[in-house]
Amino acid sequence: MEEHRNITLKCAVCGNENFEYDDVKFESIDVADEMKCTLCNKVYSREELVDVNSSLIENTGKEFAEELLKAEIKRMGFKLK
Ligand SMILES: [Zn+2]
Repeated sequence: MEEHRNITLKCAVCGNENFEYDDVKFESIDVADEMKCTLCNKVYSREELVDVNSSLIENTGKEFAEELLKAEIKRMGFKLK
């Protein structure tokens, strides 16, 4: 079995996969706990994003899901200009 998992975060409202964070409010993506959909402007907390995308990561524990989420956010490099 392949242990490595990839997830793609999706907006529950519009299905968009691009999010951004406020880099005035938050120093880096690591500390940002609010992400905004670039399409419909729905704002998610980290926890909400995990919940919304939990079906994608349902076979993992919450803690692991959080790790996946962080990695995914970093990979996508969300940034608000
Ligand atoms: Zn959206």
